Amino acid sequence: LLITFEGPDGAGKTSVLNTLFTDYTRRLGSKLVTTREPGGNKISEAIRSIIMDQANVEMDARTEALLFAAARRQHLMQTVRPALNDGKIVFSDRYVDSSIAYQGAGRNIGEQAVADMNQFATEGLTPDLTVYFDVPSEVGLARIHQYRSNEINRLDDEELSFHQRVRQAYLKLVAAHPERIVVVDATQSFDDVVHATNAVLVD
Ligand code: C5P
Ligand code: MG
Repeated sequence: LLITFEGPDGAGKTSVLNTLFTDYTRRLGSKLVTTREPGGNKISEAIRSIIMDQANVEMDARTEALLFAAARRQHLMQTVRPALNDGKIVFSDRYVDSSIAYQGAGRNIGEQAVADMNQFATEGLTPDLTVYFDVPSEVGLARIHQYRSNEINRLDDEELSFHQRVRQAYLKLVAAHPERIVVVDATQSFDDVVHATNAVLVD
């Protein structure tokens, strides 16, 4: 069982998943593998640092999309697939939908092109369930600016219209895959978001 977690910047995904992953690890023990892309393996981390490097201002959008897909592929082969083959439940912080939204729509490469590239990278491995934390772009941006950490990277400084394209793409994915993607309203309080996510996972 593969369950993925998605959302635009400022949805509070990181803090909610910290709580949730700890909680479910306590409950499920070794039956559960929690991970996040790029997944902590050597190759994917090296790719990630190329993507994130502030110095790489000249990076082309398709190059970025290919690198994300390559990092995803390696994470899939080293972490996700082996766990699934062992019958484990895998919780992944981000997966293909992120690339469709960020690179496809955010960077304007086209959602279908990015979906196709990731079909190749994943050989079509689709999540059984996706929890999408939804937040309006203005709210998300305000939260990022409020909680901005000191590890700034190349992807961190996009304008409102970029974030709006990302969110619209996510909402299109929700509409296209209602059987797979469940929306959690991330404008709620932290406790309510955790509660709502729990309700989805238990279901
Ligand atoms: O999930 P997390 O918030 O840690 O993502 C880190 C950064 O990578 C964010 O700024 C997000 O916008 C960006 N990102 C991206 N394209 C992806 C995945 C993440 O631009 N496919
Ligand atoms: Mg985050």
